[in-house]
Amino acid sequence: MDAATASTGSVDAKRGPHPRRVDRVPLKQGVQYCTRCVLDATVPRIRFDAEGVCNHCHVHDRLNRLFPTGEEGERFLRRMAEKIRRSGRGKPYDCVVGLSGGRDTCYCLYKTKQLGLRPLAVHFDNGWDSEIAKSNIRRICTKLDVDLHTIIADWEESRELTNSTIRASVPYIDLTDDIGIIVALYGTAAREGVRWIIHSHSFRAEGINPLLWNYVDGRFVRSLIRRFCRIPLKHFRNADLSDFLYWVFVKRIRTFTITNYYQDAGPEIDEFLKREFGWESTGGWHFDNEIFGLQCYYSRHKFGIDWRVIELAALVREGVISRDEALEELQRVPPIEDPEIVNYALKKQGISAEEFAELMAAEPKYFTDYPSYYPLLKAFKYPIKLLCRMNVLPPHGYEKYFEL
Ligand SMILES: [Zn+2]
Repeated sequence: MDAATASTGSVDAKRGPHPRRVDRVPLKQGVQYCTRCVLDATVPRIRFDAEGVCNHCHVHDRLNRLFPTGEEGERFLRRMAEKIRRSGRGKPYDCVVGLSGGRDTCYCLYKTKQLGLRPLAVHFDNGWDSEIAKSNIRRICTKLDVDLHTIIADWEESRELTNSTIRASVPYIDLTDDIGIIVALYGTAAREGVRWIIHSHSFRAEGINPLLWNYVDGRFVRSLIRRFCRIPLKHFRNADLSDFLYWVFVKRIRTFTITNYYQDAGPEIDEFLKREFGWESTGGWHFDNEIFGLQCYYSRHKFGIDWRVIELAALVREGVISRDEALEELQRVPPIEDPEIVNYALKKQGISAEEFAELMAAEPKYFTDYPSYYPLLKAFKYPIKLLCRMNVLPPHGYEKYFEL
């Protein structure tokens, strides 16, 4: 592509909301980069030590010490599996596993079966699943002989909720889907009398996003709905503090992040899933969820947030890729920002080019600009740390909420 066709970053109403293709994203000039990973000084709450190593690197090392892999990790997994199996005696399932069709959740489901557990797979469909993701879900559940419970969001409401978060001018437009997933997992566990939810978020393969980028809670979502939602919601169910208290203290539902105890960074898991289950890669980073193209374009151009950086930094720390390779990758436009994908997403969301231009130009906001439970959570920082270490709350929740 020559310079004449390179984008100016503006929105051209005739061509569609997405500007023309850009080849390169230059690295930030005059900004400090971590000397070990690829995070830079624009990441919220980042701090560097005397050697120029960032706090995300130190948290990663601490979590690595806290959660061993290899033989020690396997021993711990077997002990946990025994505990989870005991809680499921006399019931049809031992645990609930969220399934998206992507590599992490598919491998997590395989792993729970390998540990002798009887999982119920739960899938939340927000209307954006790719065909490959759907076929992966069918294949893996059939081959592993696992029951699947799919919760389908009402499309009109799901679309309106996403548009409400874009109108709210916050960086993460998928946050009401995160609520949908939480309600799907906890709600199903509560109904089935299941005490354990198995998570597959991986600090080694995905890193941990800064809180300011994708914070979500019930009060925050309620305030966005009140201010920005233009249709009445008949089906959407929020996850409020009272729901968590009910799920955690009355139903005594616990979470276990299984990925913390095995090495999942690197291509081996993809190859294993292809070989054993005929699993298909969705063709690139986050291609299983088609709205992510719009998410990436929107947050990179409006907030300067490139979601890949957290994941690439984690892979550098794990030695899966080199720091130079990660920096090289960051200088390429994410393939999911293909103009066709972004324009398709805008069309499906019912957002015109003119409206999108206005939304892009609106002042950037963060969850701290709206009411949320965060001040309350800060007051309970130390009890929360204890509950995270006890697996009552997700184990690296403390680091996510109070350090990153
Ligand atoms: Zn670092």
